[in-house]
Amino acid sequence: MKPITMLDLKSEFPLVEQGVRTAINEVLESQHFVGGSHVATFEEEIALRTGAKHAIAIGSGTDAILVALMAFGITSGDEVITTPFTFFATAGCIHRTGAKPVFVDINQDTFNLDPEKIKAAITPNTKAIVPVHLFGQCADMDAINDIAAKAGLKVIEDAAQALGSSYKNKNAGSLGDAACFSFYPTKNLGGFGEGGMVTTSDDALAERIRQLRNHGQTDQYHHQFIGGNFRLNTMQAAILSAKLPHLDSFNTRRRAIACQYSDLLADVPSVQTPRVAANCQSCFHQYSILTDERDKLREHLTAESIGSGIYYPIPLHLQPCFENLGYHQGDFPVSEETAKRILSLPVHPMLDDADVKRVAGCIVQHQSQAVPAEATGRS
Ligand SMILES: *Cc1c(COP(=O)(O)O)cnc(C)c1O
Repeated sequence: MKPITMLDLKSEFPLVEQGVRTAINEVLESQHFVGGSHVATFEEEIALRTGAKHAIAIGSGTDAILVALMAFGITSGDEVITTPFTFFATAGCIHRTGAKPVFVDINQDTFNLDPEKIKAAITPNTKAIVPVHLFGQCADMDAINDIAAKAGLKVIEDAAQALGSSYKNKNAGSLGDAACFSFYPTKNLGGFGEGGMVTTSDDALAERIRQLRNHGQTDQYHHQFIGGNFRLNTMQAAILSAKLPHLDSFNTRRRAIACQYSDLLADVPSVQTPRVAANCQSCFHQYSILTDERDKLREHLTAESIGSGIYYPIPLHLQPCFENLGYHQGDFPVSEETAKRILSLPVHPMLDDADVKRVAGCIVQHQSQAVPAEATGRS
């Protein structure tokens, strides 16, 4: 049986190949490999798409988060609130500034930061909140911005998984004081290597990030503060610009696949399909279901040559490197429970309807033999 994988970049390549090869040739002929017009053009394109005034290209999504935190002056002694249910980089970058990551549990339906629980985590040392738009669904930004405004905190969106997503008709990337994107090859817009972007509508912050990405240089060989080499290379910018025109159709296909899965799995009581808030449009970076005995279902799918993923198996407050933060098992029950029950299904745009039916069919068949939901006390 033909394997169905979580990602299929080889099938996608012919669709973008011509544009990408032209772009690469332009860079080769220019022999200009850092900065230049391709980077500036790609920045303008992302600013336009997100609705933010500025976009500053960065070497990776991780460095985008780090440089945004640095630009807000976040440093040792500060606290930054975020979710424990995210990719490591979100909290890793907070720690690298010297600040303390302070975790707040997630909402059961969206897997995103629960605004109701944020207030209790704010102290006089809190400087910022970093909500993550997990799997492509935006966090509850109105509630988060409201809390932040009242407490004088900055809001930095981790929008690494959300290029093309919207919240109340506003685009991810324009919903906080700054936002960070990733163009890692597995993301909805993926480069041929590492890449990232910070977006913001704050002129002074944008200027500061441009300086920080180039070792804090304000005038040539004049360093007002310490930054790093956070630059995006020209080749990636050119490739990403060439791929960008395909993003909307790829995201539309992801949404259609998500709809199809949710219809096909609607009558399986032991499976909870993703819940997208009415005012949100997700780019479905991942399509993630919840089920008991997740590992058994995963084994069954593997046996049927169907890929799946667990994002994320260990909430960050339980990672060994964060032991010194003093968190324990049981501190964030929704995140911990979700980590045990979540399973992401293939949702990349190259899947055809038959693939989606086969994946859903395997799940329906497996779950009909599994313990019914009532017996476990869940619905
Ligand atoms: C991918 C990702 C990052 C990091 O981006 P890189 O480009 O891999 O450094 C950060 N946060 C989240 C939520 C991500 O998914």
